[in-house]
Amino acid sequence: MTETIALGTPAVRRPRIPTRQGQGYFIRTFGCQMNEHDSERIAGLLEADGMVPVDRPERADVVILNTCTIRENADERLRGYLGALRAIKRDHTGMQIAVGGCMAQKDREGIAGGAEWVDVVFGTHNTHRVVDLLDHAAEWGPITEILDETESVEAMPSALPAHRRSPHTAWVTITIGCNNSCTFCIVPAVRGREISRRPGDILAEVRQLAESGVTEVTLLGQNVNSYGRDLELNGRRPLFADLLRRVGAVDGIRRVRYTSPHPKDFREDVAAAMAETPAVCEQLHLPLQSGSDRILAAMHRGYSAARYLEKLAMAHRTIADLTVSTDIIVGFPGETDEDFAATLDAVAEARFDGAFTFQYSPRPGTPAATMDDQVPRAVIQERFDRLVALQNYIGLQRNQRLVGRTLEVMVEGPSRKDEAVVTSRTRGGLPLHVDGKHPAGSYLDVTVTRAAPHHLLGSRLP
Ligand code: SF4
Repeated sequence: MTETIALGTPAVRRPRIPTRQGQGYFIRTFGCQMNEHDSERIAGLLEADGMVPVDRPERADVVILNTCTIRENADERLRGYLGALRAIKRDHTGMQIAVGGCMAQKDREGIAGGAEWVDVVFGTHNTHRVVDLLDHAAEWGPITEILDETESVEAMPSALPAHRRSPHTAWVTITIGCNNSCTFCIVPAVRGREISRRPGDILAEVRQLAESGVTEVTLLGQNVNSYGRDLELNGRRPLFADLLRRVGAVDGIRRVRYTSPHPKDFREDVAAAMAETPAVCEQLHLPLQSGSDRILAAMHRGYSAARYLEKLAMAHRTIADLTVSTDIIVGFPGETDEDFAATLDAVAEARFDGAFTFQYSPRPGTPAATMDDQVPRAVIQERFDRLVALQNYIGLQRNQRLVGRTLEVMVEGPSRKDEAVVTSRTRGGLPLHVDGKHPAGSYLDVTVTRAAPHHLLGSRLP
């Protein structure tokens, strides 16, 4: 049996004596950047309690699965992974398994009831309590703890210690939750209403990161352009554009990125702040989702394809050398051949540098999951293949325009495929593979020698 405990206010973090010195932990993250960021915070909390990371679950005393409900097949992948962990736990006395994240928030009973070898199920709003929950479960048995709403910015992921993957780049949470109601999306149900973090807290974190050697930050929120709607400072709402300018002015920060803006809320003031703040990168991820006005309305996106393209044109006019990526869902319920043709038209006009393309699959708990006219899988696959072919063609053309140009990159580390090459990123966010060995975190000027649809190759200036 799994116990569910009721809570009053979310626990205020209190100093604790590390009790898990030397124990190993392993975290498997499913899903988006928000989840990656939460996992870094969970790692930070476990390490503050004396634990050390290990490279596989077989060597871990604690395994954390940080789940997602947005990406396709996430449920199946989680179930499969939990099944494998059951066998590992049988041979490993004392191992604890905790499942957190969006799926846990939404379907705690489904997880806890279907996998009795799970020790802790915790939601997105009580990540900060993970160590307490593991201790409680060790003493009293399996436990589920889910908060319905984030009631305090104590629970903001960025307010917690972190174990970051890179010492040179960092994500900084500026909002959690979302006030929109896109009909395919589970985020409003699992992450709750939008809460903005105060600008002073964000800037303090960015300064601290800069002092520790970070030179690139990515501001993170479900809809960053609505930042500050729930705040009032000196009689006025803080604006995302002002935040960009202030973060970009922090000493030591050379690159500022952000994700994700919502097209309906993306305005001239943000584009101007991007253009006028040298540290803010010329990169925009603006999710289109569909090029059909009928489907956009059914998705509750709040804009038309024409309005989206106008905003994109405004961004290109305002920000020189802008790199743009997008998200597109293929096969949303009711999508006809004409609707899909409108998406292809919009993609051809927008000429994105990159696109994250998704085949629609119903996410339980979302309005779209119960809509009539679900599109057959074979039709979705065929449309998806056509979209990917078009975008690959456009992406290659866009990248070819950069051949011969010299771009500033930041080195991420050695390439996984070729030791003689490092992987780096341009200011526009494009991966650029560079000949030679160069330290991670260093900035280089690189001349682009070749282009592919999804990356560039280049050499350092002699
Ligand atoms: S804006 Fe829409 S897609 Fe994005 S998190 Fe909010 S509801 Fe989901």
